[in-house]
Amino acid sequence: MKWTKSLIQTLREDPGDAEIDSHKLMVRAGLMKKVAGGLYTYLPLGMRSLNKVQKIVREEMDRAGAQEIVMPILQPAELWKTSGRWESMGPGMFRLKDRASHDYALSPTAEEMVTDVVKSIVSSYRQLPLTVYQIQWKFRDEIRPRFGLMRSKEFLMKDAYSFDTSLEAADASYMAMFNAYKKVFERCGLKAYPVEADTGDIGGKFSHEFHVLAEAGEDGIAFCDGCGYAANLEKAERKVAPRNDAACGEMEVISTPGAKTIEQVSKFMGVPGSAFVKSLVYSVDGTPVMVCVPGDRDVNEVKLKHVLGAKKVELADYETVLKVTGAQPGSVGPVFAANSQLPTPDSLRIIADQELKGAKGCIVGANKDDHHIKNVDLERDAKIADYADLVIVRDGDICAKCGKPMAIKRGIEVGHVFKLGTKYTDAFKAVYKNDQLAEQVMVMGCYGIGVSRTMQAVIEQSHDKDGIVWPASVAPYQVCISLLDPDKEDVAKVAFDLEAALEAEDIDVIVDDRAERPGVKFKDADLIGFPVRVVVGGKGLANGGVEVKRRADDKSKMKLVPVAEATAAIREALGGLA
Ligand code: ATP
Ligand code: MG
Repeated sequence: MKWTKSLIQTLREDPGDAEIDSHKLMVRAGLMKKVAGGLYTYLPLGMRSLNKVQKIVREEMDRAGAQEIVMPILQPAELWKTSGRWESMGPGMFRLKDRASHDYALSPTAEEMVTDVVKSIVSSYRQLPLTVYQIQWKFRDEIRPRFGLMRSKEFLMKDAYSFDTSLEAADASYMAMFNAYKKVFERCGLKAYPVEADTGDIGGKFSHEFHVLAEAGEDGIAFCDGCGYAANLEKAERKVAPRNDAACGEMEVISTPGAKTIEQVSKFMGVPGSAFVKSLVYSVDGTPVMVCVPGDRDVNEVKLKHVLGAKKVELADYETVLKVTGAQPGSVGPVFAANSQLPTPDSLRIIADQELKGAKGCIVGANKDDHHIKNVDLERDAKIADYADLVIVRDGDICAKCGKPMAIKRGIEVGHVFKLGTKYTDAFKAVYKNDQLAEQVMVMGCYGIGVSRTMQAVIEQSHDKDGIVWPASVAPYQVCISLLDPDKEDVAKVAFDLEAALEAEDIDVIVDDRAERPGVKFKDADLIGFPVRVVVGGKGLANGGVEVKRRADDKSKMKLVPVAEATAAIREALGGLA
């Protein structure tokens, strides 16, 4: 391909709305162009990389035994109503009507549609197990589309769905996808870690997200170097040592005027945040529950939801807090003793984090505005119904598996494998007949890869101050020939002959034949990040050949090779790359 014939636009300036390097670089290198918030046009260079990622995904899905299908993006509302998600997807799902006023959704995912299809074809255990996949555009009305392709409104997803005869059989389908995902990311040159993720209502260990570590990541992940445990912060657990608090004296109410947050009260009293019990009133499926955690910790609402077996948990509104505790948020606590304006409300369930079991001498809100109580012995003075794991783990917390300290890192979720159970097959009555001819519900798994997000994650993980450093497997072109004297026929001939020789070996190559200064060509080649750059110029040829250099190497590694050996040298340079 000739540069002068391709639609490439490189920019010197970062786009104003880009916060992270990969987003800036994708725009500057001319891989994509913004249309509106969360919407992009993939330009030829971006499209080539996207296609390469898709090809890898397709090959690994096929190899794992999954079969490709493609389903409509426009999905009738009836499907979503059958599963109950027409309501529960809320404003995140794009909805529209046809001219006859029928409701549709733009597919944010496709569990409903695939279940409906498979149900209509599969009737016997002999047709199972079955895994189908598609690579299709998805639409989500994200609250904050940002970071370019990382969180866009329209994105390319590979979604696969497995159907099995039993929960046990579904484990094998799950593992096949899990292993295929490892290969996909490896082949894309990405270091992606499988981390345990929240399983929602299914329980068990059968949900893993694949994360690429990056400062820009939106997810927190707890890692243990000791045993390799990795879990999303939504799910991560820690080991808590039993406490051995010294007995404390009688409770004492203290005035803490104007101090609302733990930080303010701890400053006011001159004691560390950990001496406090942080108490929050939640609305749990509409019923108020008080949740107590150590003062220097945050509540993990995902865990809270599971512990309480609730559908929805959210902080209670101001009025509710006032009604159940008699105080404003910031002054509430689990002790409803004589100090409070109210007796302990029988109806108020109070639960506390496991670390608080046996806590003595702590400070709690007094359920009286601007007052706290010190010398609280939780078991003696409060009515805690249950102790459970209710907090978000943090750096240095102890791994529940091996006892070593964990570290918290940031990650970009590029894929997600999930054992679904029968949530959708129940709703759609997707049944098969077993060998006794009895009807059974199929067991499902679902597996997503953000294809466009993965492409950008490669850049986020592999770039330097000059631009992108593509792995050879997903680079728009593997080789860029910088032709320095395009108007000199003999020099140009060397470049185009080399191009033809490389293409004959299935190495894709672009020849920068623009009438530009060498500096401009080198800058652009570095910005776009072609894995291997070959300089063909009159001066070099007079000195004995062409210059071959890998993008990732510095100038000192540049090799001058005779024209006759150039193809072999390029092949070798590419050989060591992913
Ligand atoms: P996230 O937590 O990042 O919002 P999700 O859990 O909603 O993702 P899934 O429903 O599991 O995502 O979708 C499968 C994959 O699709 C994700 O692993 C991610 O790589 C990708 N993805 C999800 N939302 C977006 C988006 N708005 N833009 C680009 N890729 C996305
Ligand atoms: Mg997910």
